[in-house]
This record gives sequence, C-alpha cells and structure tokens, in this order.
Amino acid sequence: MRSTRKPATSSRAPSRTTASGRTWSPRSGSARLADANADAAPCPCGRPADYAHCCGRWHGGALRLQAPDAESLMRSRYSAFVRSDAAYLLDTWHPSTRPSTLALEPGLRWLGLEVKRHRPDGDARAIVEFVARSKQGGRAHRLHELSRFVREDGRWFYVDALADPAADQPKRTA
Ligand SMILES: [Zn+2]
Repeated sequence: MRSTRKPATSSRAPSRTTASGRTWSPRSGSARLADANADAAPCPCGRPADYAHCCGRWHGGALRLQAPDAESLMRSRYSAFVRSDAAYLLDTWHPSTRPSTLALEPGLRWLGLEVKRHRPDGDARAIVEFVARSKQGGRAHRLHELSRFVREDGRWFYVDALADPAADQPKRTA
C-alpha cells in the first residue's frame, strides 16, 4: 500500500506512516474482547472460511508468518488491520520499507476486501491488486492499490505500493 502523499519510505515520522499512508493512533484493547468468538467467525478477508482456518493461521500459532503466497499474505494483512494486530503488520513488512512502529487509528471500521488480481512474477515476487473499503466518522473510503510483495527465506513480505491502478480520486481522511 502506498502513501497518498509521500512515498512509503518518506521521512515522515515512521510511527505515523501506515500501509495505507494514513495516520493512525492506538486503539483501545476493546477489540481483543471479541477474540474468543472471532475464531469461528467468517474471516475478515472475505475468503469463505472462518478466521481460525484462514488468516488466523498466519496471525498466530505454529504457522505464524507462514502465509504461502502473496495474496494470502495480503489478505492476512487486511485481517490484521481489522483486528488491530500491529505486530503482525510490522512483521510482514519488508525491512527495507518497514516503519519502526505502527499505531492504528481508532474509529476506523474496515468493511470489506476485494482482491482483484494476484500476479506472481516467478517464485519470489508478486503484485496484488485490491480494493479495501472502510468507514470513519460517517465517511466511506475506498482504497484501490497495487501492492508489491517479495519472498525471502520462504516468507512473503509486503514491500510497497505502485501507482494507483485506476487513477481513483485521491481519498483523504478528514
Ligand atoms: Zn482470511
């Protein structure tokens, strides 16, 4: 995902740079209260599976960080945004572009993910085009991006985002 204002590797304070280029701030622990019931709930990423058998496998347990392909990693990162799992987002961010910290914005509600294209380039590179919808303060946002992924030592990482594939109108948070 790219910054809407500056490159992902910009000099902005890393703690304020996110995968979508928006600014975030910490969410309270309230999201964790739902964890017990979340395992059996449909996975936020939109695949027809419950969370425990979908992105939950990559978020925790023996298979943590083992998403087998770029699309699965991209979906698991979306689910991590939904679940406010900043540690997972950082751990799946390539060291070359990873911010030092990541704070998640309160009040932002993710509504859905649509993966439009998964384009592998050999075994170790891929591009995933997706649309992620969210809502904050009564305003809807639509994020349409081409994200780049690489695989190193058997693990996929998010690197950055290419130019907006559809030249969408820039979406700004209020
Ligand atoms: Zn999933």
